[in-house]
Amino acid sequence: MKPTDIKSLIDVLETQRNLSKADWVTLIRDHTPQDATYLFERARAIRKLYYGDAVYLRGLIEFTNYCRNDCYYCGIRGSNRKVSRYRLSEEQILQCCETGYQLGFRSFVLQGGEDPFFTEERIVSIVRSIRKNYPDCAITLSIGEKPFESYLAYYQAGADRYLLRHETANEEHYGKLHPSSLTLKNRKRCLQDLASIGYQVGTGFMVGSPYQTPENLAEDMLFIADLHPQMVGIGPFIPHCETPFANENSGTMDLTVFMIGVLRLTLPMSLIPATTALGTIHSFGREYGLLAGANVVMPNLSPVEVRKKYALYDNKICTGEEAAECRHCIEKRINRIGYKVVVNRGDPASSQFLVQGTGTTFCTKS
Ligand code: SAH
Repeated sequence: MKPTDIKSLIDVLETQRNLSKADWVTLIRDHTPQDATYLFERARAIRKLYYGDAVYLRGLIEFTNYCRNDCYYCGIRGSNRKVSRYRLSEEQILQCCETGYQLGFRSFVLQGGEDPFFTEERIVSIVRSIRKNYPDCAITLSIGEKPFESYLAYYQAGADRYLLRHETANEEHYGKLHPSSLTLKNRKRCLQDLASIGYQVGTGFMVGSPYQTPENLAEDMLFIADLHPQMVGIGPFIPHCETPFANENSGTMDLTVFMIGVLRLTLPMSLIPATTALGTIHSFGREYGLLAGANVVMPNLSPVEVRKKYALYDNKICTGEEAAECRHCIEKRINRIGYKVVVNRGDPASSQFLVQGTGTTFCTKS
């Protein structure tokens, strides 16, 4: 395709919010750096329309690195005997929230491996306590695949959001990243259950995971355009030395930020984080992510003693700093590129909340 044709595909994507599979493949496979620059301009304009210059913070609490699963890409997979395993107590989790609240976080993400110790009852108890202590905060869970009943129980206890990346929307590719006990079908069932219960749902995928093709990324985009999640988290795949993918290549920053740009055009009102993995492959990765259309950053609130133990991949950044340091560092980085940290739950924009200002349109929901 001629470069001008890729630009027109970007224009079609902006107006139609989706492409045919063939066009997705062309866009993802054949774009030039100039096309990417054009995409990012459009993505920033759209993000500005719905969110102004706001960047939302989510405080990430990595509360357990025990995991019963064995995903081939993940450093905390059950069969990695070299991991020093930890769990935070309910009290420690609440302490992380308190630290976070004082630092201006109004959204907490509890993420962990699929740890059987954290039964439905224990998660419900933790969610209830956070909900009671911080009624003005959003509570997000990211704890993997559970039965419908558990998702419902967490929701009734006060959780409002759930992050569960689909990882890849292609069945065969899914099978190359996971043992046969894990299926794309069940992943999709979980996402449907979560949405039907009323959660704000986040999904996503790794960019440059082993065996991934441009066709697979096209399928990811078609899946996301169809699911219409409120949040989409993507980041480059980064190998972990104690996994079967130890010698695979990382995903690139360029392709990851390009995918952030197309996500913004596909789901204009979505919340898209500039992820830690993106900040790990490039020292300004998160800034480039924000400049490509992302509008969320997820600083770590986990106690410093456990940070290094939650190693999904090698060389993860921000494992040595206290929460307060991360909070201030990220705010500086955000301000330097012309955006502002907003202290609120960071709910998705909704067209009913859009108001016309003087020259700009911004969202008034807090
Ligand atoms: N157990 C939870 C949380 C998983 S960790 C769940 O299953 O949802 C969150 C995300 O980190 C994963 O969904 C995966 O996309 C990403 N991740 C895991 N290993 C990675 C790696 N080696 N490189 C980059 N991202 C990785």
